[in-house]
Amino acid sequence: MRIGRTLPPATAPIYLRDIVSGIKGLFHGQRELDRFESELRDYFCIKHCFLFSSGKAALTIILRALHEIHPDRNEVLIPAFTCYSVPSSIVRAGLKVKLCDINSDTLDFDFKKLSAISHKLSANKLLAVIPTHLFGIPADVDQIKSLFNHSDVFIVEDAAQVMGFEYKSKKLGTLGDVSFFSLGRGKALSTIEGGIILTDRDDIASRIDNQIKKLSNYNFLEIIVLFIYAKILIIFMHPLLFWFPKALPFLKLGETIYDPNFKIKKMSSFQAGLANDWEDKLTKFIKMRSANSRYWKACFQPSPNSQLATDSSNLPASSFQLLANISDIDSFLRFPVSINDRSFRKSILEKSQRKGLGIMHTYPDSINGIQELKEEFNGQNFPVAKILAKNLVTLPVHPLVSEQDMQRIIRLLTQMEHGPST
Ligand SMILES: *Cc1c(COP(=O)(O)O)cnc(C)c1O
Repeated sequence: MRIGRTLPPATAPIYLRDIVSGIKGLFHGQRELDRFESELRDYFCIKHCFLFSSGKAALTIILRALHEIHPDRNEVLIPAFTCYSVPSSIVRAGLKVKLCDINSDTLDFDFKKLSAISHKLSANKLLAVIPTHLFGIPADVDQIKSLFNHSDVFIVEDAAQVMGFEYKSKKLGTLGDVSFFSLGRGKALSTIEGGIILTDRDDIASRIDNQIKKLSNYNFLEIIVLFIYAKILIIFMHPLLFWFPKALPFLKLGETIYDPNFKIKKMSSFQAGLANDWEDKLTKFIKMRSANSRYWKACFQPSPNSQLATDSSNLPASSFQLLANISDIDSFLRFPVSINDRSFRKSILEKSQRKGLGIMHTYPDSINGIQELKEEFNGQNFPVAKILAKNLVTLPVHPLVSEQDMQRIIRLLTQMEHGPST
């Protein structure tokens, strides 16, 4: 176990003043939730907005609502490489997971394969497709829309990781028929846990309203737990102390688990209060993530007029693969890099762990590799998703990463190439 400055792979800081707003929010009750909803509607220029206990709760409600519109359809198509919460939500909604392999250059769907799937849809069983903006990388929602145009399939944007992110001056999370954000700990903005649904479609919104009527509120004890959790986070998410929660296995930091048995509740007014000045926070965080993302881009693709004084010139391009469209992307939630040499990757992850540098593996396997789902995909292969799960790591870009941290990371990455470091 490491004691000392330790970076999480991703985080959105919560401050003491947020907790104060959270407590005020508790006293305001529904008024606080209405405020948050109406601010979100204004910011995203969207008609309907709904608040929940988590991103996966939000997705489950979306899918149940869509299934009400098309009760005869029960399949949901997702990328074979994504967060395990996504299949968890699909199964929780009583629906079936369908997979399409991804493109390693974009982490988006492999559009050749997606197009083939769209042309041989099995007797209108497909309810929805979920384009996913992974790590801040925008998925091509327009192309996905046009592929499924003829089939009346819903496009559900998984914007869990990209609240406030833009691509070509369009806000991610406003491109599909309906979308959701996560307000979990490792996301763009956090209320400890939380989820948001956005949609412009009245038909979907009215079904979501039906679903919400069946949900319960957080009880008093659950709010106390959130409160204590928020205090622990404030104290311990500081890089100087992050080693402490990391050493507590029950906090399950950085783990990705498949589990359809999660709570589905309406968001509490405490959480809405925590998000009191979310717009300013989000803007500030995105600026910091953009600056850190620029730093990584310049390190891996140094240009002659780069002003960075780092050891980056020693970074061997052959050991690290970047995404093809990396220069089009301003801001990441985590900066993805592929490392094909397995033992090199393993030793980087181990050293990062020991030195607390926040370099992290991503999802442990492709979705068809999840033990509980394996049988559903017998005979199907998603080789790109499988390889990426083994090769990809992410570098931290969150607001707590300092320039010294980034230089330490560069030193770790370069030293490794020149033999074992001491
Ligand atoms: C985090 C995440 C989710 C689920 O959000 P929670 O709030 O953790 O339930 C869904 N999809 C993606 C891509 C995510 O990163």
